[in-house]
Amino acid sequence: MFRSVFARSFKSGVLLNVYKRQYAFVRERRNPESIISTLTSTKITTSEDWEVVKNKIFNDFNTIKPSNIDAVVLTNCINYKHYDLAENYLEYLKKSGVEYNLATIGKIFKLNFCTQNESKGKDSKRNTHETLYAMYEQVKGKYGTLDSITNEHVIMGLSVTDKWEICKDILNEIKLTCVPNSIAYSCTVKAAFQNGQFDYAWNLLNEMLEKNRKPNNMCYIAYIDKCIEDKSISLEKLFEFLGDNDLICDWELIQNLRKYFQETKFVKITQKGLCTGCKKVIPRIDLSDEEFDVLKSKIFERVIVGKDVFRNTSPSELQLFQKMMNKNINYDVVIDGLNVAYSAGTKTSAFVNAHLLSSVVRYYIEQNKKVLVLGRTHMERWPKKYFDFIRANAEIFLTQNISKDDPYLLYCALHAGSNAIIVSRDLMRSHVYLLKENHHKRLFTRWLTQSQHQLVKVLDNGDVIIKKPLPYVETTQKVDGYWHLPYYTVENQESVNWMCLKLK
Ligand SMILES: [Zn+2]
Repeated sequence: MFRSVFARSFKSGVLLNVYKRQYAFVRERRNPESIISTLTSTKITTSEDWEVVKNKIFNDFNTIKPSNIDAVVLTNCINYKHYDLAENYLEYLKKSGVEYNLATIGKIFKLNFCTQNESKGKDSKRNTHETLYAMYEQVKGKYGTLDSITNEHVIMGLSVTDKWEICKDILNEIKLTCVPNSIAYSCTVKAAFQNGQFDYAWNLLNEMLEKNRKPNNMCYIAYIDKCIEDKSISLEKLFEFLGDNDLICDWELIQNLRKYFQETKFVKITQKGLCTGCKKVIPRIDLSDEEFDVLKSKIFERVIVGKDVFRNTSPSELQLFQKMMNKNINYDVVIDGLNVAYSAGTKTSAFVNAHLLSSVVRYYIEQNKKVLVLGRTHMERWPKKYFDFIRANAEIFLTQNISKDDPYLLYCALHAGSNAIIVSRDLMRSHVYLLKENHHKRLFTRWLTQSQHQLVKVLDNGDVIIKKPLPYVETTQKVDGYWHLPYYTVENQESVNWMCLKLK
């Protein structure tokens, strides 16, 4: 894909511009703190001081023009949390009688959000709220409909004021042209929780997930704070939401949850699912038959048919494949032949490849499993001793032309039923994005993580080491009255840690 974009750009003569733009970007990015350094290295108290600093910026950065300087200064102050400096700059603009453009106005709203958020609303200034609201009314009157970026900034700014409910309308306005960004959604959810509009907030959170917008922690923290304030509000609802959507907490959220509890237990969950805190075993969560059928039909619709997996297949090959599928043999294991064969590297000999695959086949047939191997016709040229063993003990389907192995593998595995095992080191996560609805994505991830076996290695004595899925799902869940929350730490985003809690 990279190559085709490159080729297209080159043909249309866009390449040169792209190159130039990148060059300009690199030049100014050499010292990303340059503008903020210019802003903070000078003592600025008067309008004249600002004029000097602005001139310096114009001289040093050729992409900064009078039309964008105000937004750039404010953005730098906001990003580096120099809020007082930003307010000082706004005072200067006010004195100079400069008319704000939309970019500057957006930053003013964003600044209000940041200052309020940092101070946790303690310095809430009613007159600032009134000024902001008046500014919104004025801009709205002048421009009519605002662009989505300005609207998103306006939402941020107004969400921390007592006029927060306007955010609902602005959010709807953005939805007419695009999907609002996570921050606009999250600010509105947060404000709704803070103001006790729980149903609206939960609905909006669900809508966010449906539209692939990840809720910011501020949503959950606002809800936790409400639960701390009023113990009759159910914290369990938050845990259910996290669990239903397989959302994993991060350290910031865990720290906020700890405010609610007098005691929190950080625990380990063993390979077998035993919690070292409450000594309960976290059970396996299998997809129901109904869920599996839904997933199967969605994968067929979006991944298999949508991607046209058989496009490169010859009619005779397709016929053979359909014949094999119609045999209706209940395979227990579907092996991605090439993936297993090349697990020790793609430059290994046919002898090594064949040895690996036949060892894996043997591993499963010794457990009385019915095995299907998908592979390529060139495997027939492998050392006879191994290939004959594979052929004698597994159903084998070799193709010449099917180029996209993953969807093809998924097709076979889904056909084999909900308990079938897929053997492949490929994570196949990319296919999840082809499924539109969040619910289907979650089913796919759960099914795949519980169905996939990965070959680790074949030992010299022929023993096969397979990485099997955990017997439980890493999601927030309640087991015999104890809530188990998986979370990532700042340092480790790969494997989860656990917290075990009991709600009174
Ligand atoms: Zn526990």
